[in-house]
Amino acid sequence: MKYLVTILISMLMMSVSAQNERLNRIEPPNWWTGMKDNSLQLLVHGENIGQTMPEFKNGEIKIVDVHRLKNNNYLFIDLEIGSNVKPGTYNLQFIENGKITAEYDYNLSEKSDKKRGFSAADLIYLVMPDRFANGNPKNDSHPDMIEKADRTNPNGRHGGDLQGIINHLDYLKDLGMTALWLNPFFENNMDDYSYHGYAITDFYNTDARFGDNDLYKKLVDESHNKGMKVIMDVVVNHCGINHWWMKDLPSEDWINSHKKFQTNYRGSVIADPHASKYDRNKFSSGWFVETMPDLNQNNKFLAKYLIQNMIWWIEFSGIDGLRMDTQPYAEKDFVARYAQRIREEYPDFTILGETWLQKVALTAYFQENSPVSQGYNSHIPTNTDFPLYYAIKDGLNQEDGWTSGLAQIYYVLARDFLYNDPFQNVIFIDNHDLDRFYSSVDEDMRKYKMGLGILLTMRGIPMLYYGDEIAMTGLEHTGHGNIRKDFPGGWKEDERNAFTEKGRTERENEAFDFIRKLANWRQSSEAISKGGLTHFVPDNNTYVYFRHTDNEAVMVILNNNPEKDRTIDGERFEEILSQYGTGKDILTGNTVTDKNTFNIKAKSIRIIEFKK
Ligand code: CA
Repeated sequence: MKYLVTILISMLMMSVSAQNERLNRIEPPNWWTGMKDNSLQLLVHGENIGQTMPEFKNGEIKIVDVHRLKNNNYLFIDLEIGSNVKPGTYNLQFIENGKITAEYDYNLSEKSDKKRGFSAADLIYLVMPDRFANGNPKNDSHPDMIEKADRTNPNGRHGGDLQGIINHLDYLKDLGMTALWLNPFFENNMDDYSYHGYAITDFYNTDARFGDNDLYKKLVDESHNKGMKVIMDVVVNHCGINHWWMKDLPSEDWINSHKKFQTNYRGSVIADPHASKYDRNKFSSGWFVETMPDLNQNNKFLAKYLIQNMIWWIEFSGIDGLRMDTQPYAEKDFVARYAQRIREEYPDFTILGETWLQKVALTAYFQENSPVSQGYNSHIPTNTDFPLYYAIKDGLNQEDGWTSGLAQIYYVLARDFLYNDPFQNVIFIDNHDLDRFYSSVDEDMRKYKMGLGILLTMRGIPMLYYGDEIAMTGLEHTGHGNIRKDFPGGWKEDERNAFTEKGRTERENEAFDFIRKLANWRQSSEAISKGGLTHFVPDNNTYVYFRHTDNEAVMVILNNNPEKDRTIDGERFEEILSQYGTGKDILTGNTVTDKNTFNIKAKSIRIIEFKK
């Protein structure tokens, strides 16, 4: 009898596992108890799964509703995870004609109470995982991943990975970085050009060529142990054309404009009162490129899917913030609901929206509580400051005039009243889509230091792009591979290792030492991390601004003249300087006793700190 029971049980198990083959996936794959919002919607994909009835074997988790679509291979199940539900595993069964035809053990853990978020006290380092360091040469190619490694192809996969980043956390900490932003590490199982990460084919999985989800969590934990934060790069606007659901879409309206109608990339149309419906629709519903279908966030199931996916990653990995790719391209009301829901669950969590717009007013529109958004509230607290980026780059390359040269920077900052909070802007001098800064200032180390000096003292949250610290070069129009070159020394076969002083050239060490000094100093400066900004109109090639609190002030002096040194009369700055005695020149270490005149060499920057 006992023998027979064993056979029966094993036959039953075999049949269940055979039937489980009809279950392709359940997402989110697991969840947490103790969430502020106790509702959860599961996406279930499987062969004719739509004709089954889902039931939990034990009744604590309540099934509130079951949605069936025209496509019978999907079920959307609304759950309520009440306060009585304990962490544990709950058996979810799919019943058809009275029989269990598939089942899934749904795991619930307890929500953590971690503190999260980043601020102007931080300095963000942007890493492109494929191009930084190869910590595991065994995962460069993967049998299940279409594109194989080829370091000779500038647009190919080079083998960099999460382990490579983990291996250099001490290097980054020493450099003075306090937060890491990685370009997306999610699976991008595309035919080619897949290394950049923005053509996601599975929103719940790390690309096997970068590592796995547990390794990402380890990267977050180890960064936290070293006092560094981690920001996740998230794409809600589009997916990769090889995304698993593209072969079997839940519904026709899951994506926009099936005819590969391309976006016009003009984010201005969202705020523009004169914009045509045609242009607005082309911008929002057009595909980003023909290998990236545009997701329709007006589909309520997809909207919920994307929001839950983000909450899943926050809770699973313990990240501090997210950077939303292409914020203006996604449906703006969805973006607002997305940000609201995440911040309701995690009030300290920081959301940074990428707003690649040339003008201040157009950028300001997309920040939360915007005074210029005509009633729209994005609930996104932080945005990328492209107007300041253009002003710094152009300003340092131009001759000074009433509106040119340093006046470019002055006039961008003079428009800060258009923002809800310009001190929340993420500021930068380049990124993975732009000319390398050193190249954009004609490889002139003087301009380079001025730009970096501005970046590390200006209002906002500064961000550096990997390789800035060794003045890497590359112009965008020559191909994206040239602005995303491999960091020298990240691969064991490299001829030199620029992660070490000995492996860097003299020019690279000059750039490195400059950044390292300012990056570490700014961590101790209250005026930089919390202070206000007062600037003085540009005059005779010079521009002076102060960052200040009640107890300290940082004076930044710029001279944009390529040949002539300048002397500045200190009387103009009395409203601030009269409160202080001597200052300290941060770059030279010298004490500054004379507040009546300030000398500044041609094409240079001085940073002077005053404390009470
Ligand atoms: Ca690798």
